[in-house]
This record gives sequence, structure tokens and C-alpha cells, in this order.
Amino acid sequence: MHVIYGGTFDPIHHGHLRLALEVCDALSVATIDLVPCHIPPHRGDTGADSQQRLDLLQLAIAGEPALRVDDRELRRAGASYTADTLRQLREELGPDEPLAMVVGTDAFAAFDRWREWQAIPELAHIVVVRRSGADLPSGSEAQKLVKSRRADDHQALHEQPCGLVLELDPPLLDISATGIRQRIADGRSPRYLTPDSVWHSIRAQGLYGVCTRSKV
Ligand code: ATP
Repeated sequence: MHVIYGGTFDPIHHGHLRLALEVCDALSVATIDLVPCHIPPHRGDTGADSQQRLDLLQLAIAGEPALRVDDRELRRAGASYTADTLRQLREELGPDEPLAMVVGTDAFAAFDRWREWQAIPELAHIVVVRRSGADLPSGSEAQKLVKSRRADDHQALHEQPCGLVLELDPPLLDISATGIRQRIADGRSPRYLTPDSVWHSIRAQGLYGVCTRSKV
């Protein structure tokens, strides 16, 4: 089974990395591909650009064989749409190989606003990871999808190529990229929230406003 985990990763942190390994264990897969999305340049001036986020991601996963980076969305011009990525992967994997995408409940809550969201279950399984404080709104399309396509266990995902939704509730680290960016901009250290290699590179490149007021 091919498993992808998408995000902005601005920057990658231990919450993302821990989740990726938890998912590998829970799904009994050897690897998971982290897929950074392209951010339009006008999104904001405090974040890192696509190449910088990709470089930080590469640093973060160095030496961990279970984690890989798939940079296909950065190589595509324009906004990143999950349906396009899954369609491309489906073509590469063929019709029978199970394909799954991982998403937190915070991101999945607005699933019906994703482009071509109805096509997504026909392309892949969806692994929904419960994040505290981010329950799926009752009556939402996301919640309906979980109910109508619920997989009993991870084994079911290995037995068909797409179409199931598996809920996972692994232990998670309460870390957000927003919190890290804020800390750095405030001149406080984000150490131990993200790998040292990532923090060193952020400092060396002066990302997230680190140069201006950093006390660390
Ligand atoms: P931001 O604070 O900028 O919104 P973020 O830390 O939430 O960023 P994203 O790149 O937006 O990170 O998230 C990508 C995916 O990772 C989403 O599916 C999100 O639910 C999940 N995720 C983010 N942080 C964590 C965490 N600490 N533990 C588990 N999953 C997380």
C-alpha cells in the first residue's frame, strides 16, 4: 500500500514526524511519503517558500528510512489539489495497488470545499487522524463520508485499492507550525518542537523573521 501525507509543512515539526511514524505502525506499512503542497507566493511574507520548506523537510527526515518526501506538488505550477496528486499517483501505481492519504480532522473538516472532493474516495482510501479540539462537524460531508465508508480495521485498506475511510486516534504531540512561526518571530526558541537540523537551517537562512528580533 502506498501512503501519502500532505501538508504545508511550514515548517515541518515533531508533531508531523511523530504522526507519520504512528501511521506507519497503525497501517503496517514500511514507508510513508510526505507531500509538501505548493503555496502561492502571495500567501504571506513570514512563511518559507516552496524550496525552503522542501529543504527543511529533507533535513528533518534524514536517516529515517520510513519517511520519504514526494515533491510532485512543488514541481506542478499553481495551487496544489489533492485530487490531481491522487490521480497522478493512481496512474503510476495502476488500478489495483491500495493508495491511502492521511489527513488530520482539522484539515478534513472542510473536505467538501476541496476541489473535486467527490472523486477522492474513488482514487484512494482516507486515513483520518483525530486531533483534539478538531472534531468533524456533525452533519458535515466529512462526517457522512466517515460513516458511509468506515473501514473496520487497517487490514481492510490492504484488500482493496481505494474507497474506505479509517479513523485513527494515535497519541499526538500538541505542536503547530503556526506556534513555531510565532515563537521564532517573537525571538523565542522553538527547540525540541522541531529537529535541531531544521532549527539550525531556519536560523542560518533567516527564515520566519528569525533575524530581526531573535534572542536565541
Ligand atoms: P499551521 O499551524 O501552519 O496550520 P500545521 O502545524 O497544522 O500548520 P500543516 O502542514 O498545516 O501543519 O498540517 C499538515 C497535516 O498535518 C494536517 O493534516 C494536520 O492535521 C496534520 N498535523 C499538523 N500538526 C500536527 C500534529 N501536531 N500532530 C498530528 N498531526 C498534525
